[in-house]
Amino acid sequence: MLERDTDLALTGGYRLHLDPGACAVLRRELPAERWDELESVSAGGGSFTAMHVTDRRLRLLVRVPAEEGEHRLVGRRPLRLALAGGLDDVLDLGVRVTGWRAAAGGEVGKGVGGGVVVVTDRGDLDGDLLVAADGVGSVVARQAAGRATSAPIGLVGLAGRVDGLAPHDEGAPAFLTHGPALAIGPRGTGMFVTRHDVATPLEEPGWVWGLVLARPVDQDPRTVLPDALRQMAGWSPWARGMVASTPADRLGHYRFHAADPHGEMLGWTPGPVAVLGDAVHAMPPTGGQSASTAIADAGDLLAALDDVRAGRRTLEAALSRYQVLLEARARPRVRESLGPARWVQRTSGPVGSAGVVAAAALVRGMRLLTRRGDAA
Ligand SMILES: Cc1cc2nc3c(=O)[nH]c(=O)nc-3n(C[C@H](O)[C@H](O)[C@H](O)COP(=O)(O)OP(=O)(O)OC[C@H]3O[C@@H](n4cnc5c(N)ncnc54)[C@H](O)[C@@H]3O)c2cc1C
Repeated sequence: MLERDTDLALTGGYRLHLDPGACAVLRRELPAERWDELESVSAGGGSFTAMHVTDRRLRLLVRVPAEEGEHRLVGRRPLRLALAGGLDDVLDLGVRVTGWRAAAGGEVGKGVGGGVVVVTDRGDLDGDLLVAADGVGSVVARQAAGRATSAPIGLVGLAGRVDGLAPHDEGAPAFLTHGPALAIGPRGTGMFVTRHDVATPLEEPGWVWGLVLARPVDQDPRTVLPDALRQMAGWSPWARGMVASTPADRLGHYRFHAADPHGEMLGWTPGPVAVLGDAVHAMPPTGGQSASTAIADAGDLLAALDDVRAGRRTLEAALSRYQVLLEARARPRVRESLGPARWVQRTSGPVGSAGVVAAAALVRGMRLLTRRGDAA
């Protein structure tokens, strides 16, 4: 198992949503002590009973009950560490994959036979199958597809975390105790905000927010917050106060990418490469579905490989089926995650606030928000 980071705790990101499908895969596949660790570093149950869509003043437009079943909210760092627990013998940190080729006897695009050579900055490795979970901009998937598997969608993100619940509990809309909110403002501004009530050795309870912006935000640490606050003119003073009080070392910048939900996602013969997660179906975090979708992929891939081990299918047949399942799940989720991103983009035009009203109307009509369980 290869990972380019030298330390798993050194990564950006604040909070991921694990939906009932992802929780079921993790409960089934993780050793009991790993699941217990994951439970201990995540919030469950009452912290996510609904998703809320609001205007920039955090006035509630739509409340969407969460899907029945287990939901967990977990920081990206604690999740990574919990998943990597017990893998010391097989996890090689600080190794960057730079490409792959079919092993002698095999031929790229001609299916499984012959195995694969993985090319890394530490030398080549041989294997039967390369499983790529290398995220947005995957070098492995790009090579398999012969093209980039996602593209920027024209929105940027600025995310932050404020330690401690108390300072911002005062003045917070009461509905935020039941789940996160996505606020949509004029001039191409949106904000995701959530109360994260879980303490781990890596993080205190706190408030997590993420701006979704059609205009780039200044990246200079001295001017980033004033610039963000300018873009938030007219927003709820409580929301602006939270952004203003975020320490510079708790800020992260992102460019949102998405796969084309209408084009071909996996346009290659299965093997010797199988891909999962953002590497093949990147989606913006506005749907809160990317981590859960990657975990669901992993569950299906494990089942496919079990079929091969048990002699129920050949590797090629099992991977073909896996790819069909992956596309069927990912396509609607990419589309749904793009929905809120498009609402934010719609408000960036000259219509301004009228665009927000239109976006609110769209919100009410969105399948994302009428189907239980698709909330972030
Ligand atoms: C820095 C960061 C912060 C994020 N923060 C949030 C957040 O706060 N909220 C949210 O909802 N979503 C967030 N996301 C997105 C979310 O974590 C992913 O969409 C989700 O985890 C899907 O997981 P994945 O395994 O497909 O990809 P990722 O989680 O991106 O994992 C890919 C892994 O592959 C490694 N890798 C990449 N290229 C190579 C290579 N060439 N060689 C070796 N290793 C490689 C990466 O270091 C990484 O560990 C964030 C993503 C990133 C990258």
